[in-house]
Order: sequence, then C-alpha cells, then structure tokens
Amino acid sequence: MAGLYIHVPFCRKACTYCDFHFSTNLRSTDQLVEAIRKELHDRAEELAKTTVGTIYFGGGTPSLLQPTAIAGFLDDARKQFTIQPNAEITLEANPDDITPENLAAWKAMGITRLSLGTQSFREDRLRFMGRAHTAQQALKSIELIAKAGFESWTIDLIYGLPGMTIAEWDEQLNTALEFGMPHLSAYCLTVEAKTALAHQVKKGAVQMPEDDDQSAQFDHLIERMEKAGLVHYEISNFGLPGHFSRHNNSYWEGVPYLGIGPAAHSFNGTHRRWNVANNAAYVKAISNGGSYWTSEELTRAQRTNERLMTGLRTMKGVDISMLEIDALAINSSAVNSYVSKGQLVVSNGRLVLSRAGRHFADRIASDLFVTDHDR
Ligand code: SF4
Repeated sequence: MAGLYIHVPFCRKACTYCDFHFSTNLRSTDQLVEAIRKELHDRAEELAKTTVGTIYFGGGTPSLLQPTAIAGFLDDARKQFTIQPNAEITLEANPDDITPENLAAWKAMGITRLSLGTQSFREDRLRFMGRAHTAQQALKSIELIAKAGFESWTIDLIYGLPGMTIAEWDEQLNTALEFGMPHLSAYCLTVEAKTALAHQVKKGAVQMPEDDDQSAQFDHLIERMEKAGLVHYEISNFGLPGHFSRHNNSYWEGVPYLGIGPAAHSFNGTHRRWNVANNAAYVKAISNGGSYWTSEELTRAQRTNERLMTGLRTMKGVDISMLEIDALAINSSAVNSYVSKGQLVVSNGRLVLSRAGRHFADRIASDLFVTDHDR
C-alpha cells in the first residue's frame, strides 16, 4: 500500500505565519498543471508494484485550481496506478473557494474528504494572520461542506494567538462543533523563520504569548474534543471514530508515498527525495528532462529517529520492536526520567506519551534520538 501526494503551489495571498512552498503569482498555473501531469506520468513506475490507498491534494491551495485540473490529475492517477476501490482522496480547500458548484464537481470526481483551511471564525484574527477569506466566508463554507455529503471533512484552526484567552478559544471550538465537525486539525501558532510574522515579532510589532497560555489552550482543546467524542489520535489531530486521516496515518507509520509537484517529498521505505521548491525551476526542468530533485538514503539512525518523532506524536505510540537501533537502552536515563515524571509510558511493547507528555512530544522524542555510532 502507498500514498500519493500532489502539491499545488499557489495561494491567493501569503498568510503571515506560513513557511510552506507556494507562489501568489497565478499566471503560471496552466504550465504548472501540465508539469505536474508530466511528473505523474514519468514516475508512474515507482508505484507499479503497489496499490494506492490514499491520494492527497495539498498546498498551497489546491482548491484555487479549476476543478477540471484536479479531475485531470485524478484521471491520470487512475490510468497509471492501481487505486484501492475505497481509497481516501483528500482535497485541501480554502473558504473563498467553497461554492455549491465546486463542491458538486469535487464530489463527482471522487474526492472523499475535504480539508478546510478555516484557521479562525473571527475577522480580527483572520486579518492578523493575513488570510484571504472573511469570517463570514469561513462560516458559510462550513455550512455548505457539512451538507455536501462527503464521506468525511475536517477543518484547521489555529490557537496560541497573541492575546487569545481560553474564552475566545472555547468560542471558536464551539462554533466548529455546532456544525457537527467530524475531524479537527488544531495548530499552535509558531513563528517560522523568514515569515512576515517572524519579521513582526523581531520588530516588536507583535508579541507572542507565553508558553503557559498556549499550553493551557492545548489542554482546553483536548478536554473539549474528548467531551465531544473526538479522539486525540495525533498531537494536532482529533477525529470521530472512522474519520481519522488515513493519508497522514500512513506518513506516521512509515508507509511509502510518492510526492508530485514543486517541493513535494517522496519516501520509498529507504530513500527520501524532495523536489525543488521553485515553480519556474520545476517547470523548466520537467520540460527539458533536467534534474529537479535531491535524494538521500536514510541511515538506520535516521529511520529510528523518524519513527520516534512521528510515532510519539500518535495515540498508538511507537512500536519498540520496529526501532532498528535500541533507542530505549541507549537513552535509558532519559526514558526513566520521563516515565518517573509521568510523561511517558512503556507498555505492551510500545512507547506512548501520557496526557501530560503530549505537551512535550517533540522534546521527548529528540531526547531519545540515536546516532549512527549507536548500535
Ligand atoms: S493559504 Fe495555506 S499554504 Fe497558502 S499561505 Fe496561507 S497557510 Fe500557507
């Protein structure tokens, strides 16, 4: 089983916090669509011996392409790969692209799961984040999606915003839950290098909240979602049973995937490969038959550390028998320390974070990392 990821590198506007690869120059969308179709074709044999269980259109903003372009990618994928009959096919969409016509077209072409980049229902917050849509559009789009009949749908929300209170966060979650949201991805605002937000923080125009405030909002999020029956199955993800993201779960479980488009990453079980994060360079290389990617073979230590990093973020934790290097023995004092603090649990051959440990997932994982000198 494998996953297919297609990166659509365009956005109408740059959000202040975002460090993904995208361009706001929409003049080259046709060329890019053609180049992506060619890459899909050129790399078909990489998935020739497997079945594709999930397809994910991410970005950027895939929903700003004409539905015919997305349908074209899907037609190509169906011709070139063996796709599981009940494959999960996700499309990321922004509220300003949600219309009854687009929803009907996406559904007709086989999209099973819509992922809506809402981020907030408040106008002032959307303006602060530089989002291209209004609060009204966020609300209206969810109303339309909830009635559109997709197998599943999800929204993104951001917490940990400057000045955010628990009451404000609670109100945002209430709004989402009132629509019967089956899945939520909630991200704490972080300051990524070279973003507009990083510049604002550096200038002193924006003051980020204290860690304790963000931590309290994370706790509140877990409580509210659990009360509503949404399972906290990964640090940033909550879903009703049957609505967990199969595509993302595959990433976390080390399943191979093919990533198509500028900046897309691929993994075949041993090698990681990533495409150039530049639209013009990508189009040029694809059309000339030039090289547009870099790849590396993961070492045993890198594979072990990836399992720790991704596995610890999930509710199932890490299957200790799958670690190629015995990270628990090598880092026994760190493991014992986190276990005695009640943040880590070792049980039934798995390493799992406790509720308290979920606040420190990345730190705990990195304290258990190994090197290639370890055996
Ligand atoms: S719409 Fe999404 S990908 Fe585009 S800039 Fe905003 S957060 Fe980044």
